[in-house]
Amino acid sequence: MKHQVKQTIIFLAALTIAVLMAGCSSSSDNQTTDENQKPTGKDNLVVHFIDVGQADSILAQLPGGQNILIDAGNNADADLIVNYLRRQGVNQLDHVIGTHPHEDHIGGLDAVIETFDTGKVYLPRVSHNTKTYEDVLLAIKNKGLKVTEAKTGDELDAVSGVDAVFLAPGKSGYDGLNNYSAVLKLTYGSTSFLFTGDAEAESEEEMLLSSWQNPGADVLKVGHHGSHSSTTEAFLNAVSPGYAIISVGKDNDYGHPHTETLAKLAAAGVQVFRTGQQGTIVATSNGESITFNKKGSPVQERAPDTSGDEAKEPANVSASSSVEIIDIDLGSEIVTVKNTGSEPVDLSGWKLVSQKGDQVFNFPAGTAIASGETLKITSGPNAQDGSNSLVWTGKNIWNNQGDPGMLYDSAGKEVSGFPR
Ligand SMILES: [Zn+2]
Repeated sequence: MKHQVKQTIIFLAALTIAVLMAGCSSSSDNQTTDENQKPTGKDNLVVHFIDVGQADSILAQLPGGQNILIDAGNNADADLIVNYLRRQGVNQLDHVIGTHPHEDHIGGLDAVIETFDTGKVYLPRVSHNTKTYEDVLLAIKNKGLKVTEAKTGDELDAVSGVDAVFLAPGKSGYDGLNNYSAVLKLTYGSTSFLFTGDAEAESEEEMLLSSWQNPGADVLKVGHHGSHSSTTEAFLNAVSPGYAIISVGKDNDYGHPHTETLAKLAAAGVQVFRTGQQGTIVATSNGESITFNKKGSPVQERAPDTSGDEAKEPANVSASSSVEIIDIDLGSEIVTVKNTGSEPVDLSGWKLVSQKGDQVFNFPAGTAIASGETLKITSGPNAQDGSNSLVWTGKNIWNNQGDPGMLYDSAGKEVSGFPR
């Protein structure tokens, strides 16, 4: 985020601005460390996607005991992250990666580096002149550490128990700071994780063009908090994940994750986890399979047949009944549909009908609506495509004198009507 900040001052200059550092955030050492200690199973890779709101912070505890930290949330998340790491029994961070200099990724890195024994620190080669980034560079310097450049093809130094290689960045100049994101692929046995930071389409395309590296992974940390600027269809096809983690704040200002991204994940049949809804997500790999501490949301909720499931409510009712038309603004030609349930719902093949004119809007394949989210279907001259809105048509649909709307699922079953 904070795209407005210009990246002007060179890397070395930032190191010298020590006089500005009076407010350098440092975390106190008075937290208890014995609470809920969970040593890593020696044979497991345990990856924690820490809930830091609209930001990223990921801890990977490697089989054999090394720790990797990828990003450290916003400045305000420093204590939360330090305490979380302590609760996991972390004493040292062998590898610390700042994917790129935006605050929502490196905000708490200074505190983390000051607090824990730190091995290598990896950053992409790009300059950025914010105080937050300068704090990080100063913390590295004060600890007697050096920055190791994160770049395509380089492996983490002396990493043990896993393969860990950077797939990006691969060149020295990009449009926008997000595309400088250090992208790490971790492979343990036959399982793999891809951590993309905020890499966007430009970086994704570059990773696909590379002839030697394979971005394929079981678990994808979705780029840029689920923004439509990342997760191109080509990239998603190449990664072909079974699981996707979106690190995102609930009700954030950016509309993340964008509907388009959720729709692509839905169409690809990927199980999606969202920190904003589910809190911290922990994935455990034994080298052959991966388990999660939370239930993933199969975005494509297929209504199972009812055989042998008599005790439950009929599944086709429970799956779709959580979606409602909550408003039809006849004058502005905006219909608002909301998912009031706890699971995402796939709207592929659903229909919205304007009763007066008997006009039908067919939801495009891959349209999904996440738990708690709304989707607007717009028509008329002001119809607008957006992160949470779809265009029906440029023509006026709704009769301003009164016009009930009906919503039908893909089986043709009536789901909701407005007004009630
Ligand atoms: Zn970000």
